[in-house]
Amino acid sequence: MKLPQDARFRRQRERFALRFTCESCALFDAERVSCAHGFPTDEHRAAFYEDEAAPIVFCKDFELE
Ligand code: SF4
Repeated sequence: MKLPQDARFRRQRERFALRFTCESCALFDAERVSCAHGFPTDEHRAAFYEDEAAPIVFCKDFELE
């Protein structure tokens, strides 16, 4: 699911310490920089959101670590 990222989302992400990227997911292997389920991670990684124009891409398999 892709949603536009706006200033409100960025404020709330910071305020509520929202965790939704691979780095906070139990299925992410940080050493191999890969997903245990084999999904592509580029759009789910924290670095993707350094670009404020990037859409929000929630992963349906995200599992909070
Ligand atoms: S399940 Fe989704 S959020 Fe978790 S590591 Fe894989 S791609 Fe990233």
